[in-house]
Amino acid sequence: MKVAIVGGGVVGMACAYELVRAGAEVVVLDRGRIGHGASLGNTGWVCPSFTYPLPGPGIVAEGLRAAFSSDGALAIRPSLDPGYLRWLWAFRRNCNSSTWLRGLAAFVELGRPTTDLLDGYRAAGVEFELHSAGLLLVALDPKKLGAYTGIFRDLVTLGFEGGLEEVSGDRARELEPMLSAGTSGGVLAQIDRWVEPLSLAQGLAAWVAGHGVEVREGVEVRAIRGGLVETNGGPLEVDATVIAAGFHSQELMRGLGVRVRMAPARGYSVTYAQNGAATPSRALYLADARVGVSTFDEGVRVAGVFELGAHNLAVEERRLDAMLRTIDPFFAGWRASVAPRESTWAGLRPLTSDGLPLIGRAPRDPKVFIATGHGML
Ligand SMILES: Cc1cc2nc3c(=O)[nH]c(=O)nc-3n(C[C@H](O)[C@H](O)[C@H](O)COP(=O)(O)OP(=O)(O)OC[C@H]3O[C@@H](n4cnc5c(N)ncnc54)[C@H](O)[C@@H]3O)c2cc1C
Repeated sequence: MKVAIVGGGVVGMACAYELVRAGAEVVVLDRGRIGHGASLGNTGWVCPSFTYPLPGPGIVAEGLRAAFSSDGALAIRPSLDPGYLRWLWAFRRNCNSSTWLRGLAAFVELGRPTTDLLDGYRAAGVEFELHSAGLLLVALDPKKLGAYTGIFRDLVTLGFEGGLEEVSGDRARELEPMLSAGTSGGVLAQIDRWVEPLSLAQGLAAWVAGHGVEVREGVEVRAIRGGLVETNGGPLEVDATVIAAGFHSQELMRGLGVRVRMAPARGYSVTYAQNGAATPSRALYLADARVGVSTFDEGVRVAGVFELGAHNLAVEERRLDAMLRTIDPFFAGWRASVAPRESTWAGLRPLTSDGLPLIGRAPRDPKVFIATGHGML
């Protein structure tokens, strides 16, 4: 069976890995470079304990408050685009506790095999940068901490078995001495891991290429009809196609009967070079600021912000600066807002109106499969 995969981000490459192991003949088509979409500059968390649907009670009000200011980790951009307005309407309807809990239950199930899958990549010889020291969520304001401990309790009720430990501010500082005296407490999730995201996409690409997969960069897919894939280099005949083109999957899904829409949720990251100074040994989530921090072999990356409806990859400096200022109080001797930056990055998370990924066969074309909508993996 010949399968075309559209998109060489982490999702497309993970599909290629599974398909080649199942015996398919696979070709991966990416209009840019492997791993250079949303999979490039993120924090790389692979965290079954910390993946939950974005739409939840209070989110719309928070997003609208930040729409016209440069502050705020979550902002809903105004637009008259009818597709975006329909998405916003559906998103708003999903912001209630029962839909949110249903989504969380789905994430618990999706996350169950995750760490075994990563171990499986390693065992099979995929080369990538993996860190396994766990995730520490910390808060300055005890009320913010309370909101997250509530989520963690729901996770446990729903069958999450990863082990979560509530820690005091003192214990959090013992675990991560960089944290400031203002830390009120936290939660340690030992099961969580992080990868250097480009290394994972490229590692999978190298592995599948070594197992006979054709990985083609610079090939744009323009339309998919049955077994025919139209590209900028001409048509390609296949038995099946997987659309894994991140946010841009939406353009290719037209006419396939997929009713769920996606909106882009732009986020930013800043990477700081390793300069010999102390760095966090775990992945850190700074709850009050909604910012994640990952230490990689080559640097430290901080990432955050959800700008719903921002379609381009421009870095809005004022919002980025505001994000960095909100994290300064979390650290004793380090100020992210003034430390020299090695690089800044913006990426578009593909976000569905219920926050869950779209995985499965297209309703109107049995030869087309969809794997997208991962606002978070
Ligand atoms: C600031 C930020 C932090 C994040 N942190 C995390 C995190 O810690 N953990 C986590 O799990 N997730 C995180 N995410 C989300 C994560 O980035 C996405 O879930 C993930 O990258 C989606 O991967 P993908 O393969 O679906 O999309 P992409 O990586 O965007 O890949 C899609 C690919 O498709 C190609 N493409 C698009 N259209 C076409 C076409 N027509 N023809 C051919 N090719 C096409 C693109 O060139 C691209 O390479 C974060 C996102 C952001 C913005």
